[in-house]
Amino acid sequence: MKIYMAREAGFCFGVKLAMDMARKRRASLDEPLYTFGPLIHNSQVIERLEEEEIFSVDSLEEIEDHASVLIRSHGVPPEVYRAFDKRGIAYTDATCPYVKKVHDIVLEHSRRHHQILIVGDPNHPEIIAVKGWAMGRGHVVLDPEDLEAIPLESYVVVVAQTTLLKSRLSAIVAALKERGLEMEVYNTICNATALRQAAAEELSKKVDLMIVIGGKHSSNTKKLYEIASKYCANAVHIETHHEILMKDLIKYDKIGVTAGASTPDWIIDAVVRKLEIEGEGILMIDNSEKNELTTEQEEQEEQEEQEEQEEQKIETPQDNGFEEGSADKPEEAVEPEASEPVMGENSGMNELMEQFDESYNVPRTGKSVEGKIVLISKDELIVNIGYKADGIIPREEISDSEDLDLNMEYEVNQTIEAVVIKKDNGEGNVLLSIKRIAQKQKWDDLEEKFNNQETVTVKVNKEVKGGLTAYYEQVKGFIPASHVDVRYIENLSAFVGQEMEVEIIELNRRKNKAVFSRKNVLQKELKIAVEKAWENLETGAVVKGIVRRFTDFGAFVDLGGVDGLLHVSEISWGKVNKPQDVLKKNQEIDVKILDLNREENKVSLSMKQMIENPWKVVAQKYALDTEYEGTITGLTDFGAFVELEPGLEGLVHVSQIAVERVEKPSDLLKVGQVVKVKILEINTEDNRIKLTMKPKEAPKQPETKAKKPAKEPVKDPVDKVLEELKEKEPMSAFADEAFDAFDAALARAAAEEAEEAQAVEAAAVKEEAVAEEEAVAETVAEEEAVEEEAAEEEAEEAEEEAEEAEEKK
Ligand code: SF4
Repeated sequence: MKIYMAREAGFCFGVKLAMDMARKRRASLDEPLYTFGPLIHNSQVIERLEEEEIFSVDSLEEIEDHASVLIRSHGVPPEVYRAFDKRGIAYTDATCPYVKKVHDIVLEHSRRHHQILIVGDPNHPEIIAVKGWAMGRGHVVLDPEDLEAIPLESYVVVVAQTTLLKSRLSAIVAALKERGLEMEVYNTICNATALRQAAAEELSKKVDLMIVIGGKHSSNTKKLYEIASKYCANAVHIETHHEILMKDLIKYDKIGVTAGASTPDWIIDAVVRKLEIEGEGILMIDNSEKNELTTEQEEQEEQEEQEEQEEQKIETPQDNGFEEGSADKPEEAVEPEASEPVMGENSGMNELMEQFDESYNVPRTGKSVEGKIVLISKDELIVNIGYKADGIIPREEISDSEDLDLNMEYEVNQTIEAVVIKKDNGEGNVLLSIKRIAQKQKWDDLEEKFNNQETVTVKVNKEVKGGLTAYYEQVKGFIPASHVDVRYIENLSAFVGQEMEVEIIELNRRKNKAVFSRKNVLQKELKIAVEKAWENLETGAVVKGIVRRFTDFGAFVDLGGVDGLLHVSEISWGKVNKPQDVLKKNQEIDVKILDLNREENKVSLSMKQMIENPWKVVAQKYALDTEYEGTITGLTDFGAFVELEPGLEGLVHVSQIAVERVEKPSDLLKVGQVVKVKILEINTEDNRIKLTMKPKEAPKQPETKAKKPAKEPVKDPVDKVLEELKEKEPMSAFADEAFDAFDAALARAAAEEAEEAQAVEAAAVKEEAVAEEEAVAETVAEEEAVEEEAAEEEAEEAEEEAEEAEEKK
């Protein structure tokens, strides 16, 4: 067996209100409390109330003067109030606000001398009271036939009993329309009743058996039973669980349960429990809860509201009239033609209903309402908000404090503001929240600030994926990681618990979404600070700055919004390889402004220019042939560079390192080593210091031969680059020495080259001389040979002459 509980069932808010007020009033009295008529039509509840000395009386004659009386939810006619006053009877008015509203309507129209038709049961106390407030202008009708007995005027006002079936009202309206009357119709059927009836109808169609719980004399319970019987083949009306005979019910698979507006929860619970236990039933509650005030719910609420309004509207058939016998069918009810002169020009029934809702201040989810406290209990406040249903504010919607004493904090008739959470909490009441009014106010506030582009202060509550969550009072928002700061922040958790000023960059109340940016605020502040900072910067000024970041060529220093570049060469007069060697991130330093370029947003800074160039005072501070301590800063093949103080370096030539011959300086020394040196020479023109590490008594080295003047070496590209560099930037002593060493090496090479050339030349000369000698010798030999040949020829001639002479002889 499955047990289905109707979505709307049991005590309506009016009955609950009256019950609470009665008990509270009784608790304040030392005597019994009387209710003018039974508080509700439920004998079990009446019994319990009597145990609490809350008795029901049917007439004023039954009570003594000055007694205490409670007017029940049905209300009473005005003459009863007058009688109370006359007899000094203290009364507590628990008339349901919805019923009171009907009193107001009929009173207002009676003053305008309108004829008033009250559709309802003439014997019902509510109708008796309403008729009383009509001041003689009211006529009670239940069926269209009742109209026959009334001398109808051309203009009539129609109101209905709060527990009336819609179809009855529709039938009367249709009958009036047939008569061509002008009318003003107020659908005063209670929402709680309509909801219960709709829920009963809906459930009746789905189940095998409908159980309707409530007093046998309760009209609204009887109407529920009527509906259940119509839509379900099997329906029973019971007052308590004792009437259930399980043997008769066991055959049903699906059982529906509903209850009249005067049926307390404990009676409904007892019925359900019996079905569960004895029938082994499973309770299937058809009642979806909506507690959170979210956009989706808001939208859903609106949709429900629309549907509800549609449901309550009296439909108009196309033929502009009622079909015969349609009066009993709610779905066949009609709306007057547009041309009908009803409430306002050209207004139809739908508009009438809308106007009615408006006149009843229909609460909207998420909106704030104002009302007067009518009852304070331990766990809730009941507030009259001028709507047909009162507002209920449960303790948890008032405060988070468990110790809060509502009676101490609030008082009856106090006007308060609350926000609507649900238009109907399932019992016909409007669920309100005081707690959320603050949240709503903050949303309003936030929206205004967002529209005006104002900033707000939020408190960060935790780090989440991708950023931080932060609260603006009761409104929760998100700060993306990229919007936490103008710079990248690695550790966002450091912001948790902090308050910060933020800009609202996205706001959507419907989606409950707020996105904040601290970065935007900082950027704006920074812009202002930059403008201000530039105004205060001037070339040559010494200012304070914070080292923000490093590069290979220097450090960027924050001068209060403007970043300046401190080139590595401007950090110290001494040798600095990289800025991190001497500076730390976020370190505050003094810097001198060398140059400003506002257009390009560039500032050149220097630290070393704030102190005197050590080369300028070297001659005063250091003496020749005096021993000083220094630190080796560099080693080359030709010597070691020694720093005497930052920016002041000298060179110890390899020949000056030790008495004995040193092949390479690195054989004896290392960088960073502190050594004792003596100054041999100071050259302030070229910023050079020659040093020695040799002891004074060192033996004199053999003089080196004076070098032959070297030929001017041919400049290669390296020379050119070095010279260009030298022209562009002032060279440090280290670089100068290196340059000099390079020069020296070149000179040595040139000298060697020259020597070599000389040798070659000498050899050539020698060769030439030899050749010459050889040539001379050859010539001599040739001459000697010629002479010898001539002598031989001469001798031959002489011999021939001698021979001739002899021959002649
Ligand atoms: S008017 Fe509605 S809420 Fe008021 S007592 Fe009647 S049924 Fe209950």
